[in-house]
Amino acid sequence: MADWGVIGHTWAVELLKRSLAGGRVRHAYLFTGPAGVGKRTLALAFARALNCTDVDRPCGHCRACTLIGNGDGDKGPHHPDVRLVEPVESGERIQRFEIRIDQVRDLQHDLALTPVEGRYRVAILRRFEAANPNAANALLKTLEEPPAHVVLVLTAVQADVLLPTIVSRCQVLNLRPLPLVAVRAALLARGVPADRADYLAHLSGGRLGWALQAVHDGELLARRSQYLDDLRRLLGASRTARFDYAEGLARDMGALREALEAWLSWWRDLLLVTTDTPAPLSNTDRAEELHALAARLTPAQARRAVAALRDAAWHLDRNANPRLLAEVLLLDLPRC
Ligand SMILES: [Zn+2]
Repeated sequence: MADWGVIGHTWAVELLKRSLAGGRVRHAYLFTGPAGVGKRTLALAFARALNCTDVDRPCGHCRACTLIGNGDGDKGPHHPDVRLVEPVESGERIQRFEIRIDQVRDLQHDLALTPVEGRYRVAILRRFEAANPNAANALLKTLEEPPAHVVLVLTAVQADVLLPTIVSRCQVLNLRPLPLVAVRAALLARGVPADRADYLAHLSGGRLGWALQAVHDGELLARRSQYLDDLRRLLGASRTARFDYAEGLARDMGALREALEAWLSWWRDLLLVTTDTPAPLSNTDRAEELHALAARLTPAQARRAVAALRDAAWHLDRNANPRLLAEVLLLDLPRC
């Protein structure tokens, strides 16, 4: 059997394999799940399977498979029939990333042509929740009347952040986080030392893509530590200090997203400790700090903080004003 090079998500791979084998490939798919869970990896594997020239698809070594690649090292596909569309930076004072209408128009121009060398023209539109309304409406035209040789793969954190008219025209595959042992095993197989693999598997929350990024990008963990140190300090700081920090953080959407993610996992751990829940902590390197702080917090306070962070992440995915969102969040967190 062909190896899709996808770790976990077996049911999704099987479903796509069956649709290929049965000649029932849909025109549009939507892969949902948290950042780093494997949506792009699965989309690229599907693109290889669609355009591989071998019998056992995807073979992984024909010209099509090689040109499409697996996204390792953040290399995009180089196949003339496979396009990757991602949000681009826009906005003046506040940094934002969005998919714009000119990107969709440009893509549609390509999709109208017959494939150059593959069977299908495949377009992978990443983080489609970041599409602005004009871009989303433009894409709807293609979803309503797709050319015969076109397969669209959209990715998003959740289906309900997109227009219902878009979701209803896609086959939705929701990718769940992997078991931590699967992330650990995949890291070990890539030569990551055991204690490091353990630590990253816990921090990843089952998102292998995130764990691999952390292996390759030392800055990712350093930034994460900094956000947690900042949070710890802010919990004892004045309203003015929290306000100033929020303003600074909101200038960079990527930073805000990373900070929210780190803080949520830290508060989830605090909730586990305050409620004496016998579950493993994610932030194993901060166990001492978490226990010390939990002694001064009530479970209700920890629960409220987790809810506030989830709420903030939810709104950020829906293009809420980042500055307002960061201010409200930081002023809401308890003082301790
Ligand atoms: Zn191949």
